[in-house]
Amino acid sequence: MSKNAWLKYEDSQLADINAFSEGYKKFITDCKTERECVRESIKLAEKEGFKDLKAYIREGKALKPGDKVYISNMEKAIALFVIGSRPLEDGLKILGAHIDSPRMDLKQVPLYEDAEMALFDTHYYGGIKKYQWVTLPLAIHGVVVKKDGTVLNIVIGESEEDPVIGVTDLLIHLSGAQLEKKGAKVIEGEDLNILIGSMPLKGEEKDAVKANILNILKDKYDVEEDDFLSAELEVVPAGKARDYGLDKSMVMGYGQDDRVCSYTSLLAILEVKETDRTCACILVDKEEIGSVGASGMHSKFFENTVAEMLALTGEYSELKVRRALSNSHMLSSDVSAAFDPNYPAVMEKKNSAYFGKGMVFNKYTGSRGKSNSNDANPEFMARLRKIMEDNQVSIQTAELGKVDEGGGGTIAYIMANYNMEVIDSGVAVLNMHAPWEITSKVDIYETYKGYIAFLREI
Ligand code: MN
Ligand code: MN
Repeated sequence: MSKNAWLKYEDSQLADINAFSEGYKKFITDCKTERECVRESIKLAEKEGFKDLKAYIREGKALKPGDKVYISNMEKAIALFVIGSRPLEDGLKILGAHIDSPRMDLKQVPLYEDAEMALFDTHYYGGIKKYQWVTLPLAIHGVVVKKDGTVLNIVIGESEEDPVIGVTDLLIHLSGAQLEKKGAKVIEGEDLNILIGSMPLKGEEKDAVKANILNILKDKYDVEEDDFLSAELEVVPAGKARDYGLDKSMVMGYGQDDRVCSYTSLLAILEVKETDRTCACILVDKEEIGSVGASGMHSKFFENTVAEMLALTGEYSELKVRRALSNSHMLSSDVSAAFDPNYPAVMEKKNSAYFGKGMVFNKYTGSRGKSNSNDANPEFMARLRKIMEDNQVSIQTAELGKVDEGGGGTIAYIMANYNMEVIDSGVAVLNMHAPWEITSKVDIYETYKGYIAFLREI
């Protein structure tokens, strides 16, 4: 087995790893929704001189080698590019990851009162073990869009003065029957209701607690009950990402699947000054529910953007769009399951990802006969091995658990449809899809270095 990546660093170099993880912790603390990730990505990109590609498209302004541009897709996905000296039809060097994470979304008609308590009804998003989401301090992040089109950005539960909310659980004293249930049924989806209030509005006869909440929503946020019909409000764990472990070697935070790969990919492309072939970084939405929808990887957004860029370099043709895509190379990045000594039974030790062993490559994900996996080409993997070795990036390879155990998907197979070389890669995580996920700081750093090497050398 490969050497632990921590061991190759001198004490003086540890400051770089720590500095990088400070930036990362801030990113995942501030960005708990797709929209927040897109907004922050634009902010960081503009600081590095990236310009809005939509302005180029509007004005028909020519794209030149060295230009750095970004384009937001409905403010829920984003693509960034550094234009290369070679024509786009020679293909792109692409980093991709997803910025949506499991959570509970408010239903369209969420607010109700029961037993003189006010609650929000939710529909969970992505795969969660529901019993993990009760008795935790939760926050609401998202938008409410008024009928006139005004978008209200809402964050409740993150600042010290803010209240938190949450889902209650049954006391142990009365849990005899509940604890006999299967894990999947201990807490059921329809019961993920968020307690948000208990104080009645004076002088109100019916649903006075709900009425009081509606008053607060109106006064503080200008939100009326009907406005929930056009809202995207996500209930997520409240609080900051933290150092984890007595040695502070790890990060605990919400939404590291897949913002750990998103942040590292983003920072890698922000580092690119000049390039032969065009570099791209795409951060997409909806991976956790099948990459569907206009902001998911299945959408035509990326393909359309490549067509627009060909037009802006004076090179557009349908054939060149197809060539640009099929000549591309991509690291499709998503988290891997880290080996957990508490649960060795589901893992096969030789082919598992470990904390401290660096960036993970998954030739294939899928399960049970590699079904639905993007089985990457060994020729591509061989080039990546060489690049990572030349750049002293620690890498490891892994599958997601034992052969017949489970499995999961990513966005790799969707991009492979364009006939490009693509492989799954990323960072190992413990507690995947739990409210608080754990990663290793050195793995995050190795992965960031791996992305930089990829963009430079593939
Ligand atoms: Mn993921
Ligand atoms: Mn996931």
